[in-house]
Amino acid sequence: MDDATLVDYAKTLDCIHCGLCLNACPTYKLTGAEPSSPRGRVHLMRSVAEGTLQPDSEFAEEMDFCLLCRACESACPSGVQFGVLMEHTRAGLQTERRGSFFARAARWIGFRVILPSRFALRLVAFVGRSAQRTGLTRFVSRFGFARALRDAPTIPPSAKRALLQPMTPARGEPRGVVGVLQGCMMPELFGRVNRATVAVLAEAGFESRVPSAHVCCGSLHAHNGDREGARFLAQKTIVCFEDIVDASGHPSPIVVNSAGCGAHMKDYAHLFDADDPWHERAHRFAERVVDFSEFVALPRTRAALERRLRDRPSRAQAVRVTWDDPCHLCHAQKIRSEPRALLDLLPGIERVEMRDSEGCCGSAGIYSLLRPDDAAAVLEPKLQELSDTRAAILVTGNPGCQLQWSAGVKRAGLNVRVAHIAELLDEALQHGPIDPADRNA
Ligand code: SF4
Ligand code: SF4
Repeated sequence: MDDATLVDYAKTLDCIHCGLCLNACPTYKLTGAEPSSPRGRVHLMRSVAEGTLQPDSEFAEEMDFCLLCRACESACPSGVQFGVLMEHTRAGLQTERRGSFFARAARWIGFRVILPSRFALRLVAFVGRSAQRTGLTRFVSRFGFARALRDAPTIPPSAKRALLQPMTPARGEPRGVVGVLQGCMMPELFGRVNRATVAVLAEAGFESRVPSAHVCCGSLHAHNGDREGARFLAQKTIVCFEDIVDASGHPSPIVVNSAGCGAHMKDYAHLFDADDPWHERAHRFAERVVDFSEFVALPRTRAALERRLRDRPSRAQAVRVTWDDPCHLCHAQKIRSEPRALLDLLPGIERVEMRDSEGCCGSAGIYSLLRPDDAAAVLEPKLQELSDTRAAILVTGNPGCQLQWSAGVKRAGLNVRVAHIAELLDEALQHGPIDPADRNA
């Protein structure tokens, strides 16, 4: 793929203008304006490629307004690869060096210095926690440029930000070896989800291996137009996981508990030209990537957990839980039934469906940081839908969604626990009854 070309013109031609994607699009639902719809955005891209429209600030704004949720791909009968199109266009816009010096410097520091470095991430978490404890964050968030900090998650104490061990053995009868992605920001914000992930895998009979040299998969880079950074981190990721093999020398599955990262890793081959040797290597790597719920719901893994859950104590009154489909799980990875099937295994649970569970929550990687008002507006109707379910727990499979929902639930004053599916499975395996209150809060 040629980054010098702003638009991947050939892919825009797949759109037949039917408009079936319009009502699936969260930004179109907010504005009702054609340019904020998938069809409108494809038309804008095509016009730029044909030279009838300048890629000016209005064009860039519509591209930035998109959440890259890919709901339009699920609705599209013509197979428009909207995610690939948008990533390509954003990369092209970045090479035109938009924005102020300060914005470009912040972006470079965020993408090229902090995200790829474990040391820098830990330093940022340390400074962030200190600022939260001294009240500095609350003070700074009064100023417009730092408004997004209002809803910033509480950074856990250092003891809860420990990295995963390079190896966590299986419990009971060993069934195999898996690689586990612990992620860049996950250890700093959701170390407990990572610990729950390897604990559930151990209970299912799998030894987890975590390459200590690995930090970031590059999904935030790709979604935000830093294709060069995304390629570099994809190559690093592939190398880090390449030597994780089972007893017979076969490459092990790579389990990912973040839907956004998993979707991106399954798409690694798109980052490289077809004649680049990395293209084939990325393709082979992608075949090993599995979402946590996808892996645990496989018949033999699920059967092992079912046996272990069978004798766990339940509670007299069932707890209502609802599953919110992360966009990059349902639209990008087409995983819908697996997490629901896993929740149905838990003792003392009544699972209820939420209306529009596949609609975006507004998290969208760093979108909620860059455009906090738009992100909150996207979540608003979903908070009502959550409230209508009368669920005590909202379950997700993506840390970004977990953050966005936690902030929204707090703002709306709802008494709902927000949990990752790995946490609930672990809790059921360790304690039996699922607690409507968060044991880790
Ligand atoms: S990716 Fe989401 S926000 Fe962007 S055009 Fe498609 S449906 Fe709309
Ligand atoms: S559903 Fe697909 S083909 Fe129809 S307008 Fe939307 S992007 Fe184009």
